[in-house]
Amino acid sequence: MARIFSGVKPTGHLTLGNYLGAVRRWVEVDQHRAEALFSVVDLHALTVEHDPARVRRLSRQAATLLLAAGLDPERCTLFAQSHVDEHARLSYVLECTATDGELRRMIQYKEKGARARAAGESVRLSLLTYPVLMAADILAYRTDEVPVGEDQTQHVELARDLAVRFNQRYGQTFTVPRATRPAVAARVMDLQDPMSKMGKSHESGAGIVYLLDEADVVRRKVMRAVTDSGREVSYDREGSPGVANLLDILAACSGGNPEELAGVYESYGSLKRDAAEAVVELLRPVRERHAELAADPGYVDEVLREGAARARAVARPVVDQAYRAIGLLEAV
Ligand code: ATP
Ligand code: MG
Repeated sequence: MARIFSGVKPTGHLTLGNYLGAVRRWVEVDQHRAEALFSVVDLHALTVEHDPARVRRLSRQAATLLLAAGLDPERCTLFAQSHVDEHARLSYVLECTATDGELRRMIQYKEKGARARAAGESVRLSLLTYPVLMAADILAYRTDEVPVGEDQTQHVELARDLAVRFNQRYGQTFTVPRATRPAVAARVMDLQDPMSKMGKSHESGAGIVYLLDEADVVRRKVMRAVTDSGREVSYDREGSPGVANLLDILAACSGGNPEELAGVYESYGSLKRDAAEAVVELLRPVRERHAELAADPGYVDEVLREGAARARAVARPVVDQAYRAIGLLEAV
């Protein structure tokens, strides 16, 4: 059976982009057809300016939301990355496999580094090495498939390169993973700035739909989405990115095709109204279930505890083998 790994960072509240790009497939497809591991990758949340209490709160909320969205602990393994030491253990070995040049080329490092500098903050070394830790997250489980949004393609590519390089140099140890993407909405754009990806850590809340937004808030955000000054509804991601984004969102929510939907609408207003209602209906059950689960934090703790034990049992022998292969003395 194929093995799948993926994760979310507790850097902010989960967004519609996270849901359509990644989480929905984990729930609807991945956990049913493969041995699937999903993680709240909390170590990654420390790579940018952060408040410890907030990260802790967001980690718990992310785990609760993943369960609310439909991850079933009987079908998959859900855990917090920091509860499984193997991620950090393997990351160091992979730092000794990667080069600084290939990390400095990463688009997200450049973008997030620039954002930190613009805010007058220094850039943490871990922001540079973050894709190596992500490679460790993936390779520690001999993962076959990594279901992610389009923005993570370059990072999964690095994990592949490191797996191949390590195997060639030190002997067959890792499975070479591949990224999988959803057919539509692999890159949901910010409603106020449709040239940028909707990202949970971005400041502009107005262009971001959060999974826990009330229905009226969702409607307002979608109705105020930036479109262009044209009048015809057409699917043109370059020429008319705001409209294309709404068509992608509507298609993803309703199971349609964005190009075909473009032909159905005569005005931006009716497209926005239908997109808003589709999002509200999609998120309603998630929000309701979240409220129920949040009332029982003991349950979430228990899921994470069991998940970490299962994850550890898979990762431990793989990381031990990597340690021996690269030349470290076996502990006796
Ligand atoms: P951050 O701004 O902190 O990077 P994020 O919203 O990008 O937050 P991540 O935790 O980095 O969230 O990513 C979790 C998953 O959601 C990844 O698989 C990522 O590819 C996917 N994802 C994130 N944003 C989008 C988006 N706008 N459209 C589609 N998929 C997305
Ligand atoms: Mg991201």
